[in-house]
Amino acid sequence: MTTTDPFRELREELDARAAEGLLRKRRIIAGKQQPALLADGEDMLSFCSNDYLGLASHPALIAAVQQAAQEVGVGGGASHLITGHHRLHHELEEALAHFVGMPRALFFSTGYMANLGVISALAGRGDAIFADRLNHASLNDAAVLSRADLHRYPHNDVAALEKQLARSTARRKLVVADAVFSMDGDIAPVPQLLELCERYDAWLMLDDAHGFGVLGAHGKGTLEHFGVHGPRIIYMATLGKAAGVSGAFVAGESELVEYLIQRARTYIYTTAMPPVLAAALLAALPIIEKETSRREQLQTLIATLRGNLKPKQWRLDESITPIQPLIIGSNEDALRVSEHLRERGILVPAIRPPTVPQGTARLRITLSAAHTVEDVMRLVNALHAAEGAQ
Ligand SMILES: *Cc1c(COP(=O)(O)O)cnc(C)c1O
Repeated sequence: MTTTDPFRELREELDARAAEGLLRKRRIIAGKQQPALLADGEDMLSFCSNDYLGLASHPALIAAVQQAAQEVGVGGGASHLITGHHRLHHELEEALAHFVGMPRALFFSTGYMANLGVISALAGRGDAIFADRLNHASLNDAAVLSRADLHRYPHNDVAALEKQLARSTARRKLVVADAVFSMDGDIAPVPQLLELCERYDAWLMLDDAHGFGVLGAHGKGTLEHFGVHGPRIIYMATLGKAAGVSGAFVAGESELVEYLIQRARTYIYTTAMPPVLAAALLAALPIIEKETSRREQLQTLIATLRGNLKPKQWRLDESITPIQPLIIGSNEDALRVSEHLRERGILVPAIRPPTVPQGTARLRITLSAAHTVEDVMRLVNALHAAEGAQ
């Protein structure tokens, strides 16, 4: 009997990925999450964080964690349904529901878990999920986990979605979309999606990971941006991006939230997030709402980037959000540009398939209120130099 090397297949797959320019590497970050980032021991100017409002290192949040840690310790203790549901989690849920103007909210440990939990609780065999093709991976994974029939519609194509809805005979229908698309920065046509859901008796689940805190006059997200509301909306947002901490929540009608407490497995079968993080988020909410200067600064930075960056061979896609996608094309070219910037102390990773469609490898530039206009101009000049050097 010959023995086989169980790692050979893995090694071959890794080698193949490397040959295609698809091998991913982690950088080791030291110090705080902020634009001036210490990455792999080097001082870098970063344009790849989702800390859009610059709250990840905000003194008020740090103080809230320090104070809460003295009072409640650091552990989550148990799952929410046993003894993990702390007063601080409960206060945060009430504050989040009030913040987004919906009856009730449920706090999850991560956005990935919220999406898996909500979709697999609401949809099952015989149900149908209608999903935008560019939705976040967690929404796609959730659809698979649910065992419902998955219909993917072309990006933001309301007419194609309508055809799919009209044909469906499913018992329960769930339309699922990123509210702001994570790799493109564009916004879903939420009023039209809601209108279709009302007409075809479907739920509308919106993942506002990148709109919460950023869009709307008070940072209440994509629903505030459009001024829409309705009981069919299942609103999900993450708290590790603009809110600067970690976690996620789902907001909607009371019955929906009660149902999720009973049925969302990623809520039930996991340890509650440490309540100190709920304390940090309780400190973040009033800052998000009242410090409108942070969103104004973002708008200034977006205008600076778009007004000055004039690529010749590349394409800066349309976006009014802090996600500014610079489409390069091939994986190798995207990596080369990213490396060119890195040598000049600027960090913008290349985003490659399967995260984005083949042939649209890109630099996903993200701006933060913690950046300055000078930071953005340094990026613009470095990109022009990189294109000239190609
Ligand atoms: C980041 C992200 C998630 C996952 O949220 P985490 O809290 O990081 O797990 C879900 N959906 C979208 C669109 C995201 O960008």
